[in-house]
Amino acid sequence: MHDLIIIGAGPAGLTAALYAGRFKLDTLIFEKMSAGGQILLSPTIENYPGFPEGVSTFDLMDKFKQQVEDSGLNIKDQEVLGVVPDGKFYQVKTQEGVFKTKALVIASGAQPKKLGVEGEDKLTGRGVSYCGTCDGPLFKDKDIVVVGGGDRAIEDALFLTGYAKSVYLIHRRNEFRAAQILVTKAQENPKIRFVLGSVVEGINGENKVEAVRVKNVKTLQSSEIKCQGVFIFVGIIPNTAFIKNILETDEFGFIITDQAMHASKEGIFACGDCVSKSLYQVVNACGEGAVAVDSAHKYLLKL
Ligand SMILES: Cc1cc2nc3c(=O)[nH]c(=O)nc-3n(C[C@H](O)[C@H](O)[C@H](O)COP(=O)(O)OP(=O)(O)OC[C@H]3O[C@@H](n4cnc5c(N)ncnc54)[C@H](O)[C@@H]3O)c2cc1C
Repeated sequence: MHDLIIIGAGPAGLTAALYAGRFKLDTLIFEKMSAGGQILLSPTIENYPGFPEGVSTFDLMDKFKQQVEDSGLNIKDQEVLGVVPDGKFYQVKTQEGVFKTKALVIASGAQPKKLGVEGEDKLTGRGVSYCGTCDGPLFKDKDIVVVGGGDRAIEDALFLTGYAKSVYLIHRRNEFRAAQILVTKAQENPKIRFVLGSVVEGINGENKVEAVRVKNVKTLQSSEIKCQGVFIFVGIIPNTAFIKNILETDEFGFIITDQAMHASKEGIFACGDCVSKSLYQVVNACGEGAVAVDSAHKYLLKL
């Protein structure tokens, strides 16, 4: 029987693990891919405090991981498949076994949302991408399209100008959700062309991307932009399917918590991008990871 199991080793789970190590809790951390989480889809982070020049996400997450290991904990490369209540405790099922715990921190994060248009699934990996860092170098001197109006879309559009010949930024509104500092940088970049008030209707191409079909939301006129790549950044969906049957979530599947990160079941806490909230960033994912473990620690003391 363990004190605590942390599910996910992104910024929230790694911070939770750091605090659990310092509280000397008997803790397991499960990660289904590689420690670091979604931020590794972006090459640099510019809004993490303490790094005025920005910092490489690989370097930052490596340091997070190192700090967890220095606190005495190891990350297990296993996917959590389900959680089953067992009296006051919980059984956590992975592909390698069943582990019993007194408390749980869910830090399973989120993944990019799809546009849901014709051609998207067929051409994913053949020009359609959700990760500028991973696929940007494949589009040297090509024309590409970036879809979205938040920080991630603008950051990646800027990053992709380092490779592409031109970047069309398609956004359904005329205003941006992204930070103004990023929007200004994009407006000043000669490689970026804005296609605002427009949505992508479909992605054309037989074996690889050849063009996107775009519709202006006001005039309803459609047009085609010839391109070889389409990078989609239109939001996230939570990785909560494995816990959905036992925890309260919002309509999109994000876990509902109180301010101390308690989820709807005694002994379960949640933090980071899998939680229903207004800001999805590294800095608050970390803060919530610390709060979740502090709450778990208090809960364990009462048990
Ligand atoms: C392209 C891009 C750019 C971004 N830019 C910024 C930025 O500039 N600044 C900023 O602050 N934020 C940025 N973000 C957002 C930031 O990455 C997230 O807010 C942050 O990573 C959330 O951390 P998290 O730990 O909650 O979740 P995640 O980072 O999603 O980590 C969750 C981890 O849980 C693992 N996991 C999921 N399910 C299971 C399971 N069943 N079993 C085991 N493990 C599981 C996943 O593999 C993952 O490693 C960006 C995101 C993207 C995609």
